[in-house]
Amino acid sequence: MQQKTDFLIIGSGIAGLSYALKVAAHGKVMIITKANRDETNTKYAQGGIAAVTYAPDSVEKHIADTLDAGDGLCDERIVRMVTTEGMDRIRELIHWGADFDKDESGKFDLAREGGHSEHRILHHKDSTGAEIERTLLDQIIHHPNIELHTHFFALDLITQHHLGEEVTRSSGGIACYGAYVLNLTTNKVDTILSRITMIATGGAGQLYRTTTNPRIATGDGVAMVYRARGTVRDMEFIQFHPTGLYHPGESPCFLISEAVRGAGAVLRNSDREEFMMHYDERGSLAPRDIVARAIDNEIKKSGGEHVYLDCTPIEREKFEEHFPNILRKCLSIGIDP
Ligand SMILES: Cc1cc2nc3c(=O)[nH]c(=O)nc-3n(C[C@H](O)[C@H](O)[C@H](O)COP(=O)(O)OP(=O)(O)OC[C@H]3O[C@@H](n4cnc5c(N)ncnc54)[C@H](O)[C@@H]3O)c2cc1C
Repeated sequence: MQQKTDFLIIGSGIAGLSYALKVAAHGKVMIITKANRDETNTKYAQGGIAAVTYAPDSVEKHIADTLDAGDGLCDERIVRMVTTEGMDRIRELIHWGADFDKDESGKFDLAREGGHSEHRILHHKDSTGAEIERTLLDQIIHHPNIELHTHFFALDLITQHHLGEEVTRSSGGIACYGAYVLNLTTNKVDTILSRITMIATGGAGQLYRTTTNPRIATGDGVAMVYRARGTVRDMEFIQFHPTGLYHPGESPCFLISEAVRGAGAVLRNSDREEFMMHYDERGSLAPRDIVARAIDNEIKKSGGEHVYLDCTPIEREKFEEHFPNILRKCLSIGIDP
């Protein structure tokens, strides 16, 4: 079957859905996703989104923290753009209906996470991603210019190559005419032609044996772009989460948000020693790569299988209020944080 649209968007996470809501003013939009409509990394994000909200925080501080946490890998131009525009994007999410927690005075209740020198994490309890996914899907479903197809698995991008032209890494001006998509309900491959194709297929966390990422995170978009262009230049960063709680038989592993460390929890080794100060003066709030390497080192030194996240510095009421899902999950597997 052949279908035509103005905008084909592959992926129904925060990237695909927010793009859809913006371009729907300019034409017909078709979103496709290979699983259920909300089965995305976005839905599983817990901690929240970093943005500069109030003084004494500033964009310059956020840039400095991000470059530092990026350990030399960041493109400063992109960091500047993302941090400068951050609060505008948050306002858009609020406009669409997302609810970020506030304190008694009505100001945003900002949390702190690893690598951040200020409290700047906007959150919805410990289920920020689920709140954002719900908000965006609500908007999409009621939009007359947007259709969303679930269980549509994008296989390959259509380029000049499919018209018989040779396309190589050095070919300039490679065009994209849409995608070949496996309809998992009919088991047939459909051709979707579009003026613009947006790849919003998320990350590739499933490359790792132990990951907090859901099964959809298999890097399909990266692979499709590689096959179409012969390169994935500009696509270099793959994020993963160090503080997961792996429970045998469960996949993906369960994440304990970094926000728990932001609220006061500390990492301890098998001797119950608070080891992070040996690795970084920011202790348990050091950036993720440093924390991950330190945890790995401590596990190798002790020969054990894990380190501990000591949550006792956080008052029980505060823990219950801020992290209800993490608490419920921990209790369900016999751990009282
Ligand atoms: C447990 C966890 C906690 C996190 N916590 C935070 C946090 O606190 N703060 C933060 O900023 N970030 C957090 N993140 C990261 C954040 O969730 C992601 O960076 C973000 O959601 C990515 O959004 P996305 O739209 O790019 O991709 P996703 O939300 O992953 O969406 C990808 C979409 O593409 C679809 N797709 C993939 N391949 C195909 C294909 N071949 N055909 C059709 N559809 C396809 C998928 O089905 C899905 O709909 C967390 C991630 C995880 C897993």
